[in-house]
Amino acid sequence: MSVLLCIHPHPDDESIACGGVLARAAAEGVRTVVVTCTGGEAGENLAGIDLGDVPLVEHRRRELAEAIAILGVDEHHLLGYRDSGMVGTVDNEHPDCFHRAELEAAALRLAAIVRSVRPDAVVSDDEHGTYGHPDHIKAHQATVRAVALAADPDADVTGEPWRVPRRYVHTFSRSRLVAAHAALIEAGLPSPFGDDVEPEPFGSDDALVTTRVDVSPHVGTKMAAMRAHASQIGADSFFMNVPDDLIDAFLGVEEFILEEGDELPGAPDALVLP
Ligand SMILES: [Zn+2]
Repeated sequence: MSVLLCIHPHPDDESIACGGVLARAAAEGVRTVVVTCTGGEAGENLAGIDLGDVPLVEHRRRELAEAIAILGVDEHHLLGYRDSGMVGTVDNEHPDCFHRAELEAAALRLAAIVRSVRPDAVVSDDEHGTYGHPDHIKAHQATVRAVALAADPDADVTGEPWRVPRRYVHTFSRSRLVAAHAALIEAGLPSPFGDDVEPEPFGSDDALVTTRVDVSPHVGTKMAAMRAHASQIGADSFFMNVPDDLIDAFLGVEEFILEEGDELPGAPDALVLP
């Protein structure tokens, strides 16, 4: 059985970035594994939901577990770091935060998971951390190093060495971003990119995108998983208000860049084969 391993910095990133490919892989009989590097400790109750007596971090842990179940993920790991918050915030200074963690130590933790899971494909953020968040950048760096360590027979990592056949980063092609932004503005809806027509620094040049995965049959599952993160993605979130005629364009495709390994033979539009 093929295995897809997706490595994400915070609770909710798995659903937003890879919810479609995870749901599709699970539906096709691929074993799916998710690693969440931090507990989202620096997040806020963005949606303003009633938390009762439950601390936000515990609430986010429950939301994550629900999303993971909705996506049909077979195995979930918490890497155990603390959320760093955005650049310049006090959470960046916390000694346990992911941003300050020694890269090699984080990579060794991840490499042990890679060796135990033996994935056919690994997915993480790109080197820019998708939108520049320190934890997203760190997740990319730690993943790259972990894949190398997992394959190295001399590395001090538990388990048998495993060479990951393909390592991808998730992205959004610039042309889709520009088109989606324009469509939202035309529909009189708020764009996540604000008023600026050019959504730099998000996304990647189209020529860099190697793999576009059709996840349109799984958009409902992806949205349900996002909705499970109720403290982060509320009913008025942009994700929950994409007009029906734009849903496929916006959420029905997930895009990736193959950074290591050869393309999947015979399936340029997939990350793993069943
Ligand atoms: Zn995140």
